[in-house]
Amino acid sequence: MEVLKRKIEEEGIVLSDQVLKVDSFLNHQIDPDLMQQIGKEFARRFEQDGITKIVTIESSGIAPAVMAGLELGVPVIFARKRKSLTLTDDLLTASVYSFTKKTESQIAVSGSHLSKEDRILIIDDFLANGQAAEGLLSIVNQAGAAVCGLGIVIEKSFQPGRDELVKKGCRVESLARIQSLKDGKVTFVQEVRS
Ligand code: 5GP
Repeated sequence: MEVLKRKIEEEGIVLSDQVLKVDSFLNHQIDPDLMQQIGKEFARRFEQDGITKIVTIESSGIAPAVMAGLELGVPVIFARKRKSLTLTDDLLTASVYSFTKKTESQIAVSGSHLSKEDRILIIDDFLANGQAAEGLLSIVNQAGAAVCGLGIVIEKSFQPGRDELVKKGCRVESLARIQSLKDGKVTFVQEVRS
């Protein structure tokens, strides 16, 4: 997605050869216009898949997921990372090791929002080692729903997440694929247009 790649080039800050900061449009301040375009692109890629719900994880997955949900006309469920007094019934949980925080946390979704008939699109802001995606996959599997694919805003293709997920038979659609963050520079994977 060219507009996203240009935004990353213009505003992304390379913190190390492993971590990209995009707080000006995705992870802190949010660019609604860009999020809307991202939502449209996810919807275009998954419009044939009969998606009934989107599942994401708080907090940075919510903006792109809601925009995709608006385009596809389906509800969006976000997994919670913190315990909530109101999140009580029929909890589906998974353990996720956070790439950025370096801590393990329990994520949870109420099973009352997912059923065996659902066809799920999982959306997240970044894909690195695939831990967040695997946790969401586990939750959807526990509900017996079908996972139609994963929509990722920024994939760091030099980390193992994509390959692990593809090995498991998951379809991964990433809007910007980063090949390297070496020497403070963002290099994208060259993709052949279909
Ligand atoms: P994974 O679980 O695939 O290892 O990492 C994905 C999660 O870690 C995402 O939900 C995202 O919040 C965070 N993350 C991973 N890499 C980066 C990065 O380079 N920059 C930012 N801002 N977040 C990242």
